[in-house]
Amino acid sequence: MAEKTSEATAEKFAPVGMAIGAFNPLGETARSDADYESIKRRFAEERDRRLAYRPEGSGQYIFELEGPLARYAVDPHAGEIAERPPIDDEVECLFIGGGFSALLTSARLRERGVESIRIVERGADVGGTWYWNRYPGVACDVPSYDYLPLLDELDYVPLNRYAKGPEIYAHCRAIAKKYGLYDLAVFQTTVTSTVWDEAERTWEVRTDRGDRMRARFVICANGTLSKPKLSKIRGMESFRGHSFHTSRWDYAYTGRDLSKLADKVVGIIGTGASAVQSIPRLAVAAKELYVFQRTPSSIDLRNDWATDPNWARRLKPGWQAKRREKMLRGPELSDEQKAQMAALSRDEKVRRQENANIDYMMRIHERIDAIVEDKVTADALKPWYMFMCKRPCFDDEYLPSYNRRNVHLVDTKGKGITEITAQGPTFEGTPYALDVLIYATGFEVQKTGIYNRIVGEDGRDLDEKYRDGVRTLFGIHTQGFPNLFIMGGYQASFQFNLTDILQTQGDHIADCIDHVRRSGFRTIDVKPEAEDWWVEQVIEHRGKTTRNQECTPGYYNFEGAANRRQDGNYNGGMVRYYSHMRDARAAMDQSFDFEK
Ligand SMILES: Cc1cc2nc3c(=O)[nH]c(=O)nc-3n(C[C@H](O)[C@H](O)[C@H](O)COP(=O)(O)OP(=O)(O)OC[C@H]3O[C@@H](n4cnc5c(N)ncnc54)[C@H](O)[C@@H]3O)c2cc1C
Repeated sequence: MAEKTSEATAEKFAPVGMAIGAFNPLGETARSDADYESIKRRFAEERDRRLAYRPEGSGQYIFELEGPLARYAVDPHAGEIAERPPIDDEVECLFIGGGFSALLTSARLRERGVESIRIVERGADVGGTWYWNRYPGVACDVPSYDYLPLLDELDYVPLNRYAKGPEIYAHCRAIAKKYGLYDLAVFQTTVTSTVWDEAERTWEVRTDRGDRMRARFVICANGTLSKPKLSKIRGMESFRGHSFHTSRWDYAYTGRDLSKLADKVVGIIGTGASAVQSIPRLAVAAKELYVFQRTPSSIDLRNDWATDPNWARRLKPGWQAKRREKMLRGPELSDEQKAQMAALSRDEKVRRQENANIDYMMRIHERIDAIVEDKVTADALKPWYMFMCKRPCFDDEYLPSYNRRNVHLVDTKGKGITEITAQGPTFEGTPYALDVLIYATGFEVQKTGIYNRIVGEDGRDLDEKYRDGVRTLFGIHTQGFPNLFIMGGYQASFQFNLTDILQTQGDHIADCIDHVRRSGFRTIDVKPEAEDWWVEQVIEHRGKTTRNQECTPGYYNFEGAANRRQDGNYNGGMVRYYSHMRDARAAMDQSFDFEK
């Protein structure tokens, strides 16, 4: 077991980024300048081709699944919606959503003595992402020892280096039980409006179940990837076979072990993270499997292993907190390395980072050539864009799936499927008759207030406030919306391990609420100048590279829209993000207005 070796231990404690395409700015890169330039030209050509097919950007998707499409959003995991009378009451802290954001922030609030905490959740349980996504193969792509929050508090060590979906879902439930979060939780309930009541100085939260809940503090924890979206494809309603979205996996149709697919021709649209995890399992189970690909993902080795029980036994209390502290401190460089780094110009750093990213992508290509036997299929699976333009994926069985005779890659070369008939998708005149079509088309990204209209002081709608660009402090506070906190939204820092961000935000929010309560204030709101400053910070750091314009379209760059100013994540790095928040908390009066 690799956890025993010192090399593996070093890797385990390395930042996530080191595991996925190590970049050493002081190291040498592998190719000639001419080679790098030629690869970049190919990246640009591929990008332009894809953009030309979809000039409408995010407009190519359907976000509101209504009418005949409403069934794609129905919860297949819950039974009938349990009848209950509408709620009319008041709580101190109300979370919209019941995923990790809500759970870990609630834990921090409990530690600070907050008793009245309610989670309102659309699904029938807590878990968020890990409640909804139960497709075969669902697993986390970040080492579990970092991804799963509150491991110290729950005295739990994950079973594997990469946790599988059911284990993560069980961990969510365990958190909710430990911190007594089921007591006031309300499930199968969608918040539809969150309105600031000026007179009472509370939030009034209305739901699709007729509830009228009041809350002193509201935390928008609605998730970064929780609202499924579909591509707009001509004729999709006419398909006569069965169909569903990956986040609403229909086990009644497929069978729990997928055995009901043995005589079925299965199609899957999309080759992003959910598809990459489900395709190997579908490949084994289905009679025939057609994979409709627009842009390939980068697929690296997963190299999972079971946690070594001896290693787990030797962990000292507080081990996860120590890992996290190390992550927040950032990479440790020697004095000599620091001096060398300081001597590099910004352009040189960018150049070296780009070259290292290209080297990484070329290694991804080499893996494909080594594994996929058919040359045409292998070439079609090669991603031609810079590392991290699209979310990287890790699966050891994905590429070998294409060596199976029942698996067929339909490479649409950036075009995507544009037509579906009663029988199935058609591409360039070739129809593909299917029994079942699975949409692995992803989610609406990082939107605050999904299914929910948020109205702050003076009747101001949050979407209206954001019309000319998102405005927040740290992606958490937005002026004119007192006692409201946002998690997982834009203008927060970005980490491949999302729970790094969420925990940092949760700690910050719990500290702010604690400060308001202990100081005898009623409300906290961000000062306009603090918000202005942060928007400038976001713009300044987003302007550092031309990456956004150069990347192949995808959800990381608004489907290729040119740099959308402040409407994105803060690119100044996690260490800086964290220290800005720490500084703000050390001198609350400088960033926030408080009212008694
Ligand atoms: C398939 C998949 C795989 C992922 N893998 C990784 C990974 O490997 N590593 C990683 O770091 N991250 C991963 N993520 C991102 C993942 O979403 C986060 O890591 C984390 O779980 C987000 O937690 P959250 O609480 O912010 O949001 P979520 O878990 O999305 O929870 C939000 C909840 O809010 C509910 N909700 C939304 N609006 C309302 C409303 N108006 N009323 C009531 N309820 C509402 C939703 O139903 C949802 O349950 C993955 C996401 C997906 C979809």
